[in-house]
Amino acid sequence: MVGARRGLSLSQLGLIENAAVLCLGGKIVAVGKTKDAFRDPWLKKNRKKVVEIDCRGRVVLPGFVDSHTHPVFTNPRLIDFEKRIAGASYEEIAEAGGGIRSSINGVRRASRAALTEKLLTAFRDMANHGTTTVEAKSGYGLDFASELKSLEAIRAAARRWPGTVVPTFLGAHTVPPEYRGRSQAYVDFVCSEMMPAVAKRKLARFSDVFCEHGAFSAHETEQVFRAAQQNELAMRAHVGQFAETRLEPLLRFNPASLDHMDYVNESDLPALAASGTVATLVPGANYFLGLSHYPNARQFIAAGVAIALATDYNPGSSPTLNMPMAMSLACTHMKMSPAEVIAAATINGAWALRIADQKGSIEPGKDADLAVFDVKDYREIPYWFGVNHCQLKILNGIADKPA
Ligand SMILES: [Zn+2]
Repeated sequence: MVGARRGLSLSQLGLIENAAVLCLGGKIVAVGKTKDAFRDPWLKKNRKKVVEIDCRGRVVLPGFVDSHTHPVFTNPRLIDFEKRIAGASYEEIAEAGGGIRSSINGVRRASRAALTEKLLTAFRDMANHGTTTVEAKSGYGLDFASELKSLEAIRAAARRWPGTVVPTFLGAHTVPPEYRGRSQAYVDFVCSEMMPAVAKRKLARFSDVFCEHGAFSAHETEQVFRAAQQNELAMRAHVGQFAETRLEPLLRFNPASLDHMDYVNESDLPALAASGTVATLVPGANYFLGLSHYPNARQFIAAGVAIALATDYNPGSSPTLNMPMAMSLACTHMKMSPAEVIAAATINGAWALRIADQKGSIEPGKDADLAVFDVKDYREIPYWFGVNHCQLKILNGIADKPA
């Protein structure tokens, strides 16, 4: 492992034609040319014990690693959708009591069992589109009981799904209504009450925070980072979706990922490139909000920043769990090549979750997470936009045809 893909290495896929992958006990054991695999002495002796899946004429990729999702919600936000189409801004919808507020009410009222079923449906649908690892955030509960309930639902759904779920505590998503105008008091509550309870119950691997005007300041974000350090949670943050935040103070905490990054100060790029922090770009949100400005992926790549792609699956700004769609948007709107979007959606997503030793590429020793696409050329995956060509997926060694 040489670290996340940067610069030119982002486009080097290591494609093997006429290939075979041998998996055993949920792990990848060997990968190479099919004719070499058949010469393997172990395989020759044990051929009858092996289940063969014929992928002739198709493309086999590492399962996608969707490293940024908000799947714990109950309802689509259709009123917001119509209002935005009619010209209302994100802020206007929020001020009218729409937006995230309606998702908070939904999650607070829902039972843990109901949230678990919703999550399981989403995870299965993600897998149908080729995703085998997903990061799942809380963040629509925003009170003690509802945040814990959200994370418990993630854990319960993860146990019933053969793929891999990485849970994230996003208590600092927005200031909830009962703390309106008192964001500092809410951040104190997140850091001193909620986060220790989450860490004690081992309900999350990461702590996340939404650093933005109308959400939490850079100063408050640093406070959340410090609390995460104290509670031994790894860190990630939403940064620069609508306005620029200076990155250097945040990079001192060595976050695994800074996400969105639509507005970034160019002078922060060398420090970002020199760090172990991945920039996770989520063009589905730009598309759905009808924005003309997208993250400057080419500038990041040229500067040597490690970038990942994710769906940002959520009911307000990116209601899609379709990774190939996010990849297509990255090609057409961010000018990334088809090869680059595949690396960003697999191995760099794994780096963004700090699990690249197990996920994100087809290498011996890694988990057997594969996605088979009914296309002849990998470039067709982002090319046929909005269409799902994933025909079969292997999740931790378990083969599953789309439902
Ligand atoms: Zn997000």
